[in-house]
Amino acid sequence: MLSPIEQLAQAFNCAERVLIITGAGLSADSGLPTYRGVGGLYNSNTNDGVPIEVALSGPMLQRDPALCWKYLAELGRACLGAQPNQGHEVIAQLQRLKPHCWLLTQNIDGFHRAAGSPDERLIEIHGQLAPLYCQSCGQKDDDLARRLAAALPPLCRRCAGVMRPPVVLFEEMLPEKAIHTLYEQLGEGFDLVLAIGTSASFPYIVEPVLRARAIGAFTAEINPARTDLSDRVDLYIAGRALDVLPELLSHISVNRICKSSP
Ligand code: NAD
Ligand code: ZN
Repeated sequence: MLSPIEQLAQAFNCAERVLIITGAGLSADSGLPTYRGVGGLYNSNTNDGVPIEVALSGPMLQRDPALCWKYLAELGRACLGAQPNQGHEVIAQLQRLKPHCWLLTQNIDGFHRAAGSPDERLIEIHGQLAPLYCQSCGQKDDDLARRLAAALPPLCRRCAGVMRPPVVLFEEMLPEKAIHTLYEQLGEGFDLVLAIGTSASFPYIVEPVLRARAIGAFTAEINPARTDLSDRVDLYIAGRALDVLPELLSHISVNRICKSSP
């Protein structure tokens, strides 16, 4: 009788096309706060009396840039002060083992890239924290750390417009290229879809899992707390990414002959 982690390893061993979906919970093991769920900063309202989805929204950046930037800066400082963990490294290793292993992340911390996940198979659906750019004239600024240590909101040196990071705020459009790549790859189908450390709050995170399951792919979730996905995947593993992923890797051997092989 295989353990749940061994079952997942077997599914990975046998899969050709794999999609790994990650959320803030993966970086929680690097000490970054999540929004919701276990260790969530904003399971209720922010200190400013509005939900995080309102504070970190496109309309709020226009209406009250200082308030929006207060939370952007909180996230930015946390990211600059932390590093990828073994979970990010295991995922990069899984991608090295499988040339058709894709990664869809909601994280804006850049840790997947830093841990070695290949750019050409990484979809950062919520953008990245840097470089900041001016909303009025487009002027860029690479020095996020210096800007976060100075007065907020950061203003453009050329035209005094409000600077912003290339992240997708709540109520903003997703980056066209990322969406295009995601749906192109979904169109080709996946044999295994694995969601790690996400509260699965967005349809474009839930849909790839359900679509894959509908065509007979194996679907799994790793999260210490149950989410809307937990009852809809083939295998739910209750645990922290940092505990589960290294053990998963220890059971992976891509050269193994699969039971389901002809
Ligand atoms: P979320 O905060 O909504 O949910 C985090 C999930 O991770 C929860 O379900 C929680 O139970 C789980 N979790 C907590 N600790 C874990 C661990 N050690 N291992 C595995 N799972 C763990 O995050 P989300 O689903 O990614 O979506 C929310 C939004 O948050 C996104 O828009 C994202 O851009 C943004 N965000 C990003 C970062 C980051 O870049 N690191 C950090 C916070 C929020
Ligand atoms: Zn400007």
